[in-house]
Amino acid sequence: MSIETLTSAVRNIPDFPIPGIQFKDITTLFQSPEHLKELSDILYEKYRDRGITKVVGIESRGFFMGPAVAIKLGAGFVPIRKPGKLPYKVIEETYTKEYGDDAIQIHEDALTKEDIVLIHDDLLATGGTMVAAYNLVKKLGVKKIYINFLIELEELEGHMLFPEEVEVSSVLKFKV
Ligand code: AMP
Repeated sequence: MSIETLTSAVRNIPDFPIPGIQFKDITTLFQSPEHLKELSDILYEKYRDRGITKVVGIESRGFFMGPAVAIKLGAGFVPIRKPGKLPYKVIEETYTKEYGDDAIQIHEDALTKEDIVLIHDDLLATGGTMVAAYNLVKKLGVKKIYINFLIELEELEGHMLFPEEVEVSSVLKFKV
């Protein structure tokens, strides 16, 4: 299956959730079993030889593919969630999004120094969410971090926010 086929399955919703935002609706991509399998195969092939021990998914759209890829990689899955959702002791980061401010948390004992981590989210826009997630994971002192998105909004240049030594990749790229 071509990347174009996957790209055209993403639905564009103008002015959602606020005017000026072109929302990338991935539910239309996920409803096809062929598309879903292709996405998980692409991610598996990309990360299979990296020794990933934990996939970290960001609430909430990082929870769709994150666990699927973790199972294929033979890795564990760790959620990063919005405040008040995780029941044990957490560490927190605040950040600015493409629309609005927010905070995210991770359990303080979710990762160890031995972990090689793939942080996954559905979409890279300004990069604020993933930078906060990257900072959280880094604070827990893991061995190595990879970053992955299903979709990158290229013109926002969010990938520029990450240190050069961190491999940042996305499956589908959109201009807007
Ligand atoms: P950012 O922190 O600006 O990179 O925003 C990324 C987060 O916000 C992701 O978790 C996305 O789910 C969501 N998001 C931001 N912009 C969009 C968009 N245009 N379409 C869909 N989701 C978006």
